[in-house]
Amino acid sequence: MTKTAKSPKTTSCDIAIVGAGPAGLSLARALKESGLDILMLESSSENELKNPKPDGRDIALTHLSRQLMTELGLWQKLPKNEINPLREARVINGTSPYFLHFEKPDAPDATLGWLVPNYLIRKAAYECVKPCKNVNLRANSKVALTRTDSEGATITLENGEIITAKLAVAADTRFSQTRRQVGIATRMRDFGRSVIVCRMKHELSHEDIAYECFIDEQTLAILPLFGKNCSVVVTLPSYEAAQLQAMSPRAFAAYIEERFQHRVGKMTLTGERVLYPLVAAYADRFYAERLALVGDAAVGMHPVTAHGYNFGLRGAVDLAQRIAKAHEAGEDIGATPLLAAYSRQHRKVTRPLYLATNGLVEIYTKDHLPARLLRRGLLHLGNALPPVKRLLMNQLTELSAA
Ligand SMILES: Cc1cc2nc3c(=O)[nH]c(=O)nc-3n(C[C@H](O)[C@H](O)[C@H](O)COP(=O)(O)OP(=O)(O)OC[C@H]3O[C@@H](n4cnc5c(N)ncnc54)[C@H](O)[C@@H]3O)c2cc1C
Repeated sequence: MTKTAKSPKTTSCDIAIVGAGPAGLSLARALKESGLDILMLESSSENELKNPKPDGRDIALTHLSRQLMTELGLWQKLPKNEINPLREARVINGTSPYFLHFEKPDAPDATLGWLVPNYLIRKAAYECVKPCKNVNLRANSKVALTRTDSEGATITLENGEIITAKLAVAADTRFSQTRRQVGIATRMRDFGRSVIVCRMKHELSHEDIAYECFIDEQTLAILPLFGKNCSVVVTLPSYEAAQLQAMSPRAFAAYIEERFQHRVGKMTLTGERVLYPLVAAYADRFYAERLALVGDAAVGMHPVTAHGYNFGLRGAVDLAQRIAKAHEAGEDIGATPLLAAYSRQHRKVTRPLYLATNGLVEIYTKDHLPARLLRRGLLHLGNALPPVKRLLMNQLTELSAA
Protein backbone atom coordinates (compact mmCIF):
# COMPACT_ATOMS: atom_id res chain seq x y z
CA MET A 1 0.00 0.00 0.00
CA THR A 2 1.43 3.41 -0.93
CA LYS A 3 1.40 6.14 1.72
CA THR A 4 -0.18 9.46 0.67
CA ALA A 5 2.21 12.38 1.27
CA LYS A 6 0.98 14.82 3.94
CA SER A 7 0.40 18.26 2.43
CA PRO A 8 2.61 20.94 4.05
CA LYS A 9 1.17 23.28 6.66
CA THR A 10 0.05 26.52 4.99
CA THR A 11 -0.45 29.92 6.68
CA SER A 12 -1.89 33.06 5.07
CA CYS A 13 -1.31 36.68 6.00
CA ASP A 14 -1.50 40.15 4.47
CA ILE A 15 2.23 40.94 4.67
CA ALA A 16 5.14 38.54 5.23
CA ILE A 17 8.38 40.23 6.28
CA VAL A 18 11.56 38.16 5.81
CA GLY A 19 14.12 39.22 8.43
CA ALA A 20 13.61 40.74 11.90
CA GLY A 21 16.66 43.01 11.88
CA PRO A 22 16.28 46.72 12.74
CA ALA A 23 14.73 47.54 9.33
CA GLY A 24 12.20 44.68 9.23
CA LEU A 25 11.17 45.33 12.84
CA SER A 26 10.80 49.08 12.22
CA LEU A 27 8.51 48.35 9.27
CA ALA A 28 6.36 45.98 11.34
CA ARG A 29 6.09 48.54 14.13
CA ALA A 30 5.19 51.31 11.68
CA LEU A 31 2.27 49.13 10.51
CA LYS A 32 0.89 48.60 14.03
CA GLU A 33 -2.22 50.73 13.57
CA SER A 34 -2.85 49.55 10.00
CA GLY A 35 -5.07 46.61 10.96
CA LEU A 36 -3.10 44.41 8.56
CA ASP A 37 -2.15 40.87 9.51
CA ILE A 38 1.67 40.69 9.51
CA LEU A 39 3.91 37.65 9.78
CA MET A 40 7.62 38.20 10.48
CA LEU A 41 9.98 35.35 9.64
CA GLU A 42 13.38 35.32 11.30
CA SER A 43 16.04 32.63 11.29
CA SER A 44 17.52 33.58 14.72
CA SER A 45 16.10 32.25 17.96
CA GLU A 46 13.61 34.13 20.16
CA ASN A 47 16.34 34.56 22.78
CA GLU A 48 18.71 36.17 20.24
CA LEU A 49 15.94 38.62 19.31
CA LYS A 50 15.01 39.34 22.91
CA ASN A 51 18.56 39.66 24.24
CA PRO A 52 20.78 40.50 21.27
CA LYS A 53 24.50 40.36 22.02
CA PRO A 54 26.72 43.44 21.53
CA ASP A 55 28.07 43.33 17.98
CA GLY A 56 30.64 46.13 18.28
CA ARG A 57 28.65 48.54 16.09
CA ASP A 58 27.70 51.95 17.41
CA ILE A 59 25.15 53.49 15.08
CA ALA A 60 25.21 57.23 14.36
CA LEU A 61 21.59 58.35 14.19
CA THR A 62 20.40 61.49 12.43
CA HIS A 63 17.80 64.01 13.58
CA LEU A 64 15.22 62.47 11.28
CA SER A 65 15.94 59.00 12.70
CA ARG A 66 15.49 60.23 16.24
CA GLN A 67 12.15 61.76 15.25
CA LEU A 68 10.96 58.57 13.53
CA MET A 69 12.22 56.33 16.34
CA THR A 70 10.39 58.52 18.87
CA GLU A 71 7.15 58.29 16.85
CA LEU A 72 7.51 54.50 16.79
CA GLY A 73 8.35 54.31 20.51
CA LEU A 74 11.87 52.89 19.93
CA TRP A 75 13.77 55.91 21.19
CA GLN A 76 12.03 55.81 24.58
CA LYS A 77 13.23 52.22 25.06
CA LEU A 78 16.92 53.06 24.65
CA PRO A 79 18.83 53.34 27.95
CA LYS A 80 19.54 57.08 28.44
CA ASN A 81 23.21 56.49 29.31
CA GLU A 82 23.71 54.74 25.95
CA ILE A 83 22.49 57.69 23.85
CA ASN A 84 25.69 59.59 23.14
CA PRO A 85 25.46 63.08 21.60
CA LEU A 86 27.76 64.10 18.74
CA ARG A 87 28.49 67.82 19.10
CA GLU A 88 31.25 68.26 16.56
CA ALA A 89 32.93 66.28 13.78
CA ARG A 90 36.39 66.67 12.28
CA VAL A 91 37.65 65.10 9.07
CA ILE A 92 41.43 64.77 8.99
CA ASN A 93 43.67 63.90 6.06
CA GLY A 94 46.82 61.95 6.97
CA THR A 95 48.99 63.60 9.60
CA SER A 96 48.04 67.13 8.53
CA PRO A 97 46.83 69.39 11.38
CA TYR A 98 44.24 70.85 8.96
CA PHE A 99 40.71 69.46 9.25
CA LEU A 100 37.24 69.84 7.79
CA HIS A 101 35.04 70.92 10.63
CA PHE A 102 31.33 70.35 11.28
CA GLU A 103 29.92 72.11 14.32
CA LYS A 104 26.57 71.51 15.96
CA PRO A 105 23.68 73.61 14.59
CA ASP A 106 23.04 77.01 16.16
CA ALA A 107 20.56 76.08 18.87
CA PRO A 108 20.91 75.51 22.58
CA ASP A 109 21.80 71.92 23.39
CA ALA A 110 21.87 71.04 19.69
CA THR A 111 23.82 68.08 18.34
CA LEU A 112 24.92 66.75 14.98
CA GLY A 113 23.39 63.38 15.87
CA TRP A 114 23.59 60.57 18.43
CA LEU A 115 25.50 57.33 18.76
CA VAL A 116 23.64 54.26 20.01
CA PRO A 117 24.83 50.61 20.10
CA ASN A 118 23.27 48.53 17.33
CA TYR A 119 22.25 45.68 19.66
CA LEU A 120 20.21 48.13 21.77
CA ILE A 121 18.38 49.39 18.66
CA ARG A 122 17.57 45.75 17.82
CA LYS A 123 16.40 45.12 21.37
CA ALA A 124 14.24 48.28 21.46
CA ALA A 125 12.69 47.41 18.10
CA TYR A 126 11.90 43.86 19.26
CA GLU A 127 10.30 45.16 22.47
CA CYS A 128 8.11 47.54 20.44
CA VAL A 129 6.97 44.87 17.98
CA LYS A 130 6.42 41.93 20.31
CA PRO A 131 3.25 43.37 21.95
CA CYS A 132 1.70 44.38 18.57
CA LYS A 133 -1.46 42.31 18.24
CA ASN A 134 -1.39 42.36 14.44
CA VAL A 135 2.22 41.09 14.20
CA ASN A 136 3.16 37.46 14.57
CA LEU A 137 6.95 37.41 15.07
CA ARG A 138 8.24 33.94 14.35
CA ALA A 139 11.79 33.09 15.42
CA ASN A 140 13.65 29.97 14.24
CA SER A 141 11.89 30.35 10.90
CA LYS A 142 14.41 30.40 8.10
CA VAL A 143 13.01 31.20 4.68
CA ALA A 144 14.21 28.81 1.97
CA LEU A 145 12.37 30.07 -1.11
CA THR A 146 10.24 33.07 -2.11
CA ARG A 147 8.19 33.24 -5.30
CA THR A 148 5.79 35.97 -6.34
CA ASP A 149 3.23 36.44 -9.11
CA SER A 150 0.33 38.80 -9.79
CA GLU A 151 -1.80 37.07 -7.14
CA GLY A 152 0.63 37.25 -4.24
CA ALA A 153 3.77 35.82 -2.63
CA THR A 154 4.46 32.21 -1.69
CA ILE A 155 7.21 31.64 0.84
CA THR A 156 8.58 28.22 1.75
CA LEU A 157 10.31 27.83 5.11
CA GLU A 158 13.17 25.41 5.64
CA ASN A 159 10.84 23.18 7.65
CA GLY A 160 8.54 22.88 4.63
CA GLU A 161 5.77 25.20 5.88
CA ILE A 162 4.26 27.45 3.23
CA ILE A 163 3.26 31.06 3.81
CA THR A 164 1.07 32.97 1.38
CA ALA A 165 0.81 36.77 1.50
CA LYS A 166 -0.62 39.64 -0.51
CA LEU A 167 2.78 41.30 -0.19
CA ALA A 168 6.24 40.05 0.80
CA VAL A 169 8.99 42.32 2.12
CA ALA A 170 12.65 41.32 1.99
CA ALA A 171 14.63 42.70 4.95
CA ASP A 172 17.15 39.88 4.96
CA THR A 173 20.55 41.68 4.85
CA ARG A 174 22.57 43.21 2.00
CA PHE A 175 23.21 39.67 0.73
CA SER A 176 19.43 39.12 0.51
CA GLN A 177 18.57 35.69 -0.80
CA THR A 178 14.93 36.73 -1.27
CA ARG A 179 16.00 39.58 -3.55
CA ARG A 180 17.95 37.19 -5.76
CA GLN A 181 15.15 34.60 -5.84
CA VAL A 182 12.64 37.10 -7.22
CA GLY A 183 15.14 38.22 -9.87
CA ILE A 184 16.16 41.70 -8.70
CA ALA A 185 19.68 42.40 -9.96
CA THR A 186 21.99 44.23 -7.55
CA ARG A 187 25.21 46.15 -7.91
CA MET A 188 27.55 44.82 -5.25
CA ARG A 189 30.78 46.61 -4.54
CA ASP A 190 33.36 44.53 -2.68
CA PHE A 191 35.99 46.96 -1.41
CA GLY A 192 38.41 44.10 -0.69
CA ARG A 193 38.66 45.63 2.75
CA SER A 194 37.28 44.96 6.19
CA VAL A 195 36.23 47.04 9.12
CA ILE A 196 37.12 46.37 12.74
CA VAL A 197 34.86 47.89 15.39
CA CYS A 198 35.43 47.95 19.13
CA ARG A 199 35.10 50.08 22.25
CA MET A 200 38.03 51.70 24.00
CA LYS A 201 38.54 53.94 27.01
CA HIS A 202 41.05 56.76 27.12
CA GLU A 203 42.85 59.17 29.38
CA LEU A 204 41.68 62.58 28.06
CA SER A 205 38.20 63.88 27.26
CA HIS A 206 36.98 63.57 23.66
CA GLU A 207 34.72 66.60 24.21
CA ASP A 208 31.93 64.87 22.24
CA ILE A 209 33.93 65.31 19.03
CA ALA A 210 33.81 62.61 16.35
CA TYR A 211 36.97 62.16 14.29
CA GLU A 212 37.24 60.64 10.83
CA CYS A 213 40.92 60.25 9.91
CA PHE A 214 42.14 59.15 6.50
CA ILE A 215 45.62 57.73 6.94
CA ASP A 216 47.47 55.97 4.11
CA GLU A 217 45.08 53.24 2.96
CA GLN A 218 43.15 53.24 6.21
CA THR A 219 40.25 55.14 7.66
CA LEU A 220 40.06 55.50 11.44
CA ALA A 221 36.93 56.85 13.11
CA ILE A 222 36.96 57.68 16.80
CA LEU A 223 33.39 58.27 17.93
CA PRO A 224 32.62 59.76 21.36
CA LEU A 225 30.73 57.70 23.94
CA PHE A 226 29.79 58.42 27.58
CA GLY A 227 32.65 59.57 29.83
CA LYS A 228 36.10 58.87 28.47
CA ASN A 229 35.03 56.07 26.18
CA CYS A 230 34.86 55.84 22.43
CA SER A 231 33.81 53.58 19.60
CA VAL A 232 36.67 52.80 17.24
CA VAL A 233 36.07 51.97 13.57
CA VAL A 234 39.11 51.03 11.48
CA THR A 235 38.83 50.09 7.82
CA LEU A 236 41.82 48.56 6.08
CA PRO A 237 42.77 45.90 3.54
CA SER A 238 41.33 42.55 4.71
CA TYR A 239 44.67 40.79 5.28
CA GLU A 240 45.80 43.66 7.56
CA ALA A 241 42.46 43.65 9.38
CA ALA A 242 42.93 39.98 10.26
CA GLN A 243 46.42 40.77 11.61
CA LEU A 244 45.07 43.67 13.66
CA GLN A 245 42.33 41.51 15.11
CA ALA A 246 44.87 38.88 16.14
CA MET A 247 47.13 41.38 17.99
CA SER A 248 47.21 41.32 21.78
CA PRO A 249 44.80 43.88 23.33
CA ARG A 250 47.78 45.93 24.53
CA ALA A 251 49.51 45.99 21.13
CA PHE A 252 46.21 46.85 19.44
CA ALA A 253 45.61 49.74 21.85
CA ALA A 254 49.12 51.07 21.30
CA TYR A 255 48.61 50.87 17.54
CA ILE A 256 45.31 52.82 17.61
CA GLU A 257 46.77 55.37 20.03
CA GLU A 258 49.69 56.02 17.70
CA ARG A 259 47.45 56.17 14.58
CA PHE A 260 45.23 58.69 16.39
CA GLN A 261 48.30 60.73 17.23
CA HIS A 262 47.70 60.47 21.01
CA ARG A 263 44.82 63.01 20.79
CA VAL A 264 42.99 61.40 23.72
CA GLY A 265 46.08 60.14 25.55
CA LYS A 266 46.53 56.53 26.57
CA MET A 267 43.92 54.16 25.15
CA THR A 268 42.76 50.74 26.42
CA LEU A 269 40.60 48.15 24.71
CA THR A 270 37.37 47.52 26.65
CA GLY A 271 35.27 45.46 24.24
CA GLU A 272 35.60 42.66 21.74
CA ARG A 273 37.03 43.48 18.31
CA VAL A 274 34.44 42.57 15.67
CA LEU A 275 35.37 42.30 12.01
CA TYR A 276 32.97 42.94 9.10
CA PRO A 277 33.82 42.54 5.39
CA LEU A 278 33.17 45.76 3.47
CA VAL A 279 30.67 45.12 0.72
CA ALA A 280 28.20 47.75 -0.47
CA ALA A 281 25.00 46.83 -2.31
CA TYR A 282 22.45 48.82 -4.30
CA ALA A 283 19.53 46.94 -5.84
CA ASP A 284 18.57 47.89 -9.42
CA ARG A 285 15.01 48.44 -8.17
CA PHE A 286 13.49 48.16 -4.73
CA TYR A 287 10.44 46.11 -5.75
CA ALA A 288 9.23 43.18 -7.80
CA GLU A 289 5.72 41.90 -8.40
CA ARG A 290 4.17 41.84 -4.87
CA LEU A 291 7.50 42.29 -3.14
CA ALA A 292 9.41 45.26 -1.68
CA LEU A 293 12.97 45.53 -0.43
CA VAL A 294 13.77 47.42 2.76
CA GLY A 295 16.90 48.11 4.82
CA ASP A 296 20.22 46.71 3.67
CA ALA A 297 18.41 44.44 1.20
CA ALA A 298 17.67 47.62 -0.80
CA VAL A 299 20.72 49.76 0.07
CA GLY A 300 23.77 48.36 1.84
CA MET A 301 25.98 51.34 2.64
CA HIS A 302 29.72 51.51 3.35
CA PRO A 303 29.74 52.54 7.06
CA VAL A 304 32.06 55.55 6.60
CA THR A 305 29.12 57.96 6.18
CA ALA A 306 27.06 56.15 8.86
CA HIS A 307 23.77 55.90 7.02
CA GLY A 308 22.69 52.24 6.66
CA TYR A 309 20.07 52.14 9.39
CA ASN A 310 19.14 55.80 8.92
CA PHE A 311 18.16 54.98 5.34
CA GLY A 312 16.60 51.64 6.32
CA LEU A 313 14.35 53.31 8.88
CA ARG A 314 13.34 56.14 6.57
CA GLY A 315 12.45 53.69 3.78
CA ALA A 316 10.52 51.39 6.14
CA VAL A 317 8.40 54.28 7.44
CA ASP A 318 7.73 55.58 3.92
CA LEU A 319 6.66 52.13 2.72
CA ALA A 320 4.45 51.60 5.79
CA GLN A 321 2.67 54.92 5.20
CA ARG A 322 1.94 54.05 1.56
CA ILE A 323 0.65 50.59 2.50
CA ALA A 324 -1.54 51.91 5.35
CA LYS A 325 -3.01 54.61 3.10
CA ALA A 326 -3.85 52.11 0.35
CA HIS A 327 -5.44 49.72 2.86
CA GLU A 328 -7.55 52.50 4.37
CA ALA A 329 -8.79 53.44 0.92
CA GLY A 330 -9.70 49.80 0.21
CA GLU A 331 -6.97 49.52 -2.41
CA ASP A 332 -4.54 46.68 -3.11
CA ILE A 333 -1.57 46.88 -0.69
CA GLY A 334 0.69 44.96 -3.10
CA ALA A 335 -0.15 46.91 -6.26
CA THR A 336 2.80 47.58 -8.54
CA PRO A 337 2.25 51.39 -8.79
CA LEU A 338 2.43 51.66 -4.97
CA LEU A 339 5.66 49.64 -4.81
CA ALA A 340 7.16 51.50 -7.76
CA ALA A 341 6.40 54.87 -6.10
CA TYR A 342 8.12 53.72 -2.89
CA SER A 343 11.12 52.54 -4.90
CA ARG A 344 11.39 55.84 -6.80
CA GLN A 345 11.23 57.92 -3.63
CA HIS A 346 13.71 55.78 -1.71
CA ARG A 347 16.19 55.84 -4.60
CA LYS A 348 15.90 59.63 -4.74
CA VAL A 349 16.74 59.81 -1.02
CA THR A 350 19.56 57.25 -0.99
CA ARG A 351 21.34 57.29 -4.34
CA PRO A 352 23.30 60.57 -4.06
CA LEU A 353 24.86 59.64 -0.72
CA TYR A 354 25.41 56.01 -1.77
CA LEU A 355 27.42 57.14 -4.83
CA ALA A 356 29.19 59.94 -2.94
CA THR A 357 30.19 57.52 -0.17
CA ASN A 358 31.71 55.04 -2.62
CA GLY A 359 33.51 57.92 -4.38
CA LEU A 360 34.82 59.23 -1.08
CA VAL A 361 36.13 55.80 -0.14
CA GLU A 362 37.91 55.64 -3.51
CA ILE A 363 39.59 59.05 -3.06
CA TYR A 364 40.49 58.60 0.59
CA THR A 365 41.90 55.10 0.50
CA LYS A 366 44.19 55.36 -2.53
CA ASP A 367 47.71 56.55 -2.01
CA HIS A 368 48.63 57.83 -5.48
CA LEU A 369 49.41 61.52 -6.07
CA PRO A 370 46.15 62.62 -7.80
CA ALA A 371 44.11 61.11 -4.96
CA ARG A 372 46.33 62.79 -2.35
CA LEU A 373 45.93 66.19 -4.04
CA LEU A 374 42.21 65.73 -4.49
CA ARG A 375 41.56 64.87 -0.86
CA ARG A 376 43.58 67.80 0.40
CA GLY A 377 41.66 70.08 -1.98
CA LEU A 378 38.30 68.68 -0.91
CA LEU A 379 38.85 69.46 2.77
CA HIS A 380 39.84 73.05 1.98
CA LEU A 381 36.89 73.44 -0.39
CA GLY A 382 34.51 72.08 2.27
CA ASN A 383 35.68 74.66 4.82
CA ALA A 384 35.94 77.57 2.38
CA LEU A 385 32.51 77.23 0.80
CA PRO A 386 29.72 77.45 3.38
CA PRO A 387 27.00 76.26 0.91
CA VAL A 388 29.03 73.07 0.20
CA LYS A 389 29.44 72.51 3.90
CA ARG A 390 25.74 73.14 4.56
CA LEU A 391 24.82 70.64 1.85
CA LEU A 392 27.11 68.02 3.38
CA MET A 393 25.75 68.74 6.86
CA ASN A 394 22.16 68.39 5.72
CA GLN A 395 22.90 65.11 3.98
CA LEU A 396 24.72 63.66 6.97
CA THR A 397 22.50 64.89 9.81
CA GLU A 398 19.13 64.86 7.93
CA LEU A 399 18.30 68.01 9.92
CA SER A 400 16.25 69.60 7.17
CA ALA A 401 14.26 66.37 6.64
CA ALA A 402 13.30 66.09 10.33
C1 LIG B 1 30.64 48.47 11.24
C2 LIG B 1 29.30 49.02 10.88
C3 LIG B 1 28.98 50.31 11.30
C4 LIG B 1 27.74 50.83 10.97
N1 LIG B 1 27.45 52.10 11.37
C5 LIG B 1 26.27 52.64 11.04
C6 LIG B 1 25.95 53.97 11.45
O1 LIG B 1 26.74 54.64 12.12
N2 LIG B 1 24.72 54.48 11.09
C7 LIG B 1 23.81 53.76 10.39
O2 LIG B 1 22.72 54.27 10.10
N3 LIG B 1 24.09 52.50 9.98
C8 LIG B 1 25.29 51.93 10.28
N4 LIG B 1 25.57 50.65 9.89
C9 LIG B 1 24.58 49.91 9.09
C10 LIG B 1 23.48 49.22 9.92
O3 LIG B 1 24.06 48.42 10.93
C11 LIG B 1 22.65 48.38 8.95
O4 LIG B 1 22.19 49.21 7.91
C12 LIG B 1 21.43 47.75 9.63
O5 LIG B 1 21.80 46.93 10.69
C13 LIG B 1 20.70 46.88 8.61
O6 LIG B 1 19.50 46.41 9.16
P1 LIG B 1 18.63 45.35 8.35
O7 LIG B 1 17.47 45.05 9.22
O8 LIG B 1 18.39 45.80 6.96
O9 LIG B 1 19.57 44.06 8.19
P2 LIG B 1 20.26 43.11 9.24
O10 LIG B 1 20.60 43.82 10.49
O11 LIG B 1 21.35 42.45 8.48
O12 LIG B 1 19.11 42.05 9.62
C14 LIG B 1 18.64 41.10 8.69
C15 LIG B 1 17.87 40.00 9.45
O13 LIG B 1 17.38 39.06 8.48
C16 LIG B 1 17.55 37.75 9.00
N5 LIG B 1 17.59 36.81 7.88
C17 LIG B 1 18.50 36.75 6.88
N6 LIG B 1 18.20 35.78 6.01
C18 LIG B 1 17.05 35.20 6.47
C19 LIG B 1 16.25 34.13 6.01
N7 LIG B 1 16.53 33.44 4.89
N8 LIG B 1 15.14 33.77 6.72
C20 LIG B 1 14.81 34.45 7.85
N9 LIG B 1 15.55 35.47 8.35
C21 LIG B 1 16.65 35.85 7.66
C22 LIG B 1 18.87 37.84 9.79
O14 LIG B 1 18.98 36.80 10.75
C23 LIG B 1 18.77 39.22 10.41
O15 LIG B 1 18.15 39.20 11.68
C24 LIG B 1 26.81 50.09 10.20
C25 LIG B 1 27.15 48.80 9.77
C26 LIG B 1 28.39 48.27 10.11
C27 LIG B 1 28.74 46.88 9.64
